[in-house]
Amino acid sequence: MTRYIFVTGGVVSSLGKGLTTAALGALLQSRGYSVRLRKFDPYLNVDPGTMNPYQHGEVFVTDDGAETDLDLGHYERFTGVPARRSDTVTSGRVYSDVLTRERRGDYLGGTVQVIPHVTDVIKEYIRADTDGADFVLCEVGGTVGDIEGLPFLEAIRQMVQELPRRHSILIHHTLVPYLNASGELKTKPTQHSVKELRSIGLQPDILVCRCEREIPESERSKIALFCNVRESAVIPALDVDTIYQVPVSYHEAGLDGEVLKAFAMDDEHTPDLQSWRRVVNGIRSPEDEVTIAVVGKYTGLADAYKSLNEALAHGGIANRVRVGLRWIDSEVFEREDVVAHLDSVDGILVPGGFGSRGTRGKIAAVSFAREHRIPYFGICFGMQMAVIEVSRNMAGIEGASSTEFGPARDPVVGLLTEWTDGNRIETRTGDSDLGGTMRLGAFDCAITKGTRVADIYRSDLISERHRHRYEVNINYRFILEQHGLVFSGLSPDGQLPEIVELGDHPWFVGVQFHPELKSRPFDPHPLFASFIEAAVTQSRLV
Ligand code: GLN
Repeated sequence: MTRYIFVTGGVVSSLGKGLTTAALGALLQSRGYSVRLRKFDPYLNVDPGTMNPYQHGEVFVTDDGAETDLDLGHYERFTGVPARRSDTVTSGRVYSDVLTRERRGDYLGGTVQVIPHVTDVIKEYIRADTDGADFVLCEVGGTVGDIEGLPFLEAIRQMVQELPRRHSILIHHTLVPYLNASGELKTKPTQHSVKELRSIGLQPDILVCRCEREIPESERSKIALFCNVRESAVIPALDVDTIYQVPVSYHEAGLDGEVLKAFAMDDEHTPDLQSWRRVVNGIRSPEDEVTIAVVGKYTGLADAYKSLNEALAHGGIANRVRVGLRWIDSEVFEREDVVAHLDSVDGILVPGGFGSRGTRGKIAAVSFAREHRIPYFGICFGMQMAVIEVSRNMAGIEGASSTEFGPARDPVVGLLTEWTDGNRIETRTGDSDLGGTMRLGAFDCAITKGTRVADIYRSDLISERHRHRYEVNINYRFILEQHGLVFSGLSPDGQLPEIVELGDHPWFVGVQFHPELKSRPFDPHPLFASFIEAAVTQSRLV
């Protein structure tokens, strides 16, 4: 029977619950158990799809087309288990379900309340679609004490009672701050946070204590005493130099052993963490370094391009180099010369994006990469910008633009009005809702033989994840191909351009999908491995 691990956090946000959940999932796998990982977010948005990346970080997309929290990206990268729609639940989704049921008359005239109706729906989500995994890890977003989080914690309290004994545990994250003035570690915030949890009927089994320095024995026993947990279950979590060190560090701190003990399961067997150690060694001792310029909009917040960041690092692991990133806000190019910013880089990447702000700068970056023969990788919006640049400057289509920015004389990129999803035809108009209406999730793409990407993928049919509302206009294929832009990947019906490349260039590829979402540290995405390889060659030219 499936066992549940609930993961909560207190004191402050950003304690790394998502990474703990992902790393613990990987540790349990390395002991031979199957896992599913899911995230419960207390905010009222139905999903993070319409949220500004500055507020929420990247929107991670699953194969089945859910727009989710970026923690699901960590889960996938660490465990390799593809996340699904059922692995992401927000208060917005829960309330929207409850209200639909109420309107349909499902509650038979009863008064609809948080307990039991909302908590029942949350429990349904916790139990749904678990595939009979040995462990389901459920992370609750936010901080204990938040008003919105209460229904989730209450649902967990009920679940703990409903499951057989020793079939659920609670891991709570806290902060143990160090006060410089007194030279002391402080345990009081942890005590208060656990008190808060206990007042709603939840007793943590394990405490993960984020701290800047070692927590001495005396403080660990104090935390154990005041928080009613075993001393061995007070797990210190110190900062590490790379996130891929987290599983090894948690194992050394005893986290996975303590989890199994809490379930009264055998923890004798030592897990094999060799592959994690290899990844970490690769990151710590690169043979060389390349610099990639990422020209985007949300460059002030690393979380806005989380998966991209990771996929570039994986490309570095594949080539035994460190990938230094230079984040450039594309609007800078509207005031300053491109050359000063891009002259010394070994590769240029324009990532996904929305809206017209900063597009002139992105197009200027494409021109620079094309003319100076610097490896260029355009992802989603970055592909669309490349097509506009090539249309204007190589094919002489002066009015080339995207209808995303208003009516265009030459809509080389236009609104996606119809596409097939399995046996279904999806249609959209300019007035469709914004939430959840893009072309979302995994779609097949047929690769044209003899192209660069055919060589990179070594396959003629691939599947990649999408998240876009506009597309390159197939009607311009002929004229663009005449001017050297190769349409090297198309939807299987031949209607939607998915990949373009320039033949006469060291490495110039634009993709309509998001390959970064499927890259793993042990299995770097072929496009990122190849792009970084081209950047290494470029770095040796100068
Ligand atoms: N804004 C573009 C579109 O909707 C690109 C989206 C993206 O980069 N994810 O098609």
